[in-house]
Amino acid sequence: MINVTKSQPAPACLEAEKAKNNGTYLCGDVFERIHADFHGKCYICEHSKPTKINVEHFKPHYQGKNLDRKFDWNNLFYACAHCNGIKSSDETEYLNCTYSEHKITDWIHFDIKPFPKELVKISALKDDELVKNTVFLLNQVYNYQYAESKFTPTKEAANNLRKILITEIKSFVRLLEKYFEDLTDESDKIVLKRKILKHVKNPKSPFLAFKLRIIQDNYEYRKEFLS
Ligand SMILES: [Zn+2]
Repeated sequence: MINVTKSQPAPACLEAEKAKNNGTYLCGDVFERIHADFHGKCYICEHSKPTKINVEHFKPHYQGKNLDRKFDWNNLFYACAHCNGIKSSDETEYLNCTYSEHKITDWIHFDIKPFPKELVKISALKDDELVKNTVFLLNQVYNYQYAESKFTPTKEAANNLRKILITEIKSFVRLLEKYFEDLTDESDKIVLKRKILKHVKNPKSPFLAFKLRIIQDNYEYRKEFLS
């Protein structure tokens, strides 16, 4: 999860749809704009190629009973079906990644070791209820540890997501290793630096929160790629 900016103003069709009996919030260019605003990534897990995509209501609308929420542009988020299925549909409050004041990657520590079978470690860097709820959600999304021994479709989906995450982080870490090898010459370093920056400066980069944390946690990396 990273911070994103929701484009404004809201698509005009939402108000018109809200006034209808069976209006849809997927009117006009709503989906196109949500896809662009969230950089084509699930806002929860940051997977960029989910096969099932949902337009999720950040705050639940209770099967349309809450019309304001159902048609509120600022309540429409881009999520994969796996994450949408795990996020609770009650009034549990989470950090809102579209609020710039909710400093997602400063308040949450994202960690995965690039080895097979490793679990993801998400932890809170701030003592706050919203942070705790979001950390809990993220840990479930990546690890799904409700039932230690029970093998379920959700657990398998989390396993698959983790494999994709590990593959991505591995190739990112390989670039860093190569960059800092003594034998890497200057011209190769220029190419490698460009590739590394393509990962960390591009909001479309999958699992960016994990990559940013790898850079932030190391003084040499920080100096080289974030200054
Ligand atoms: Zn997801």
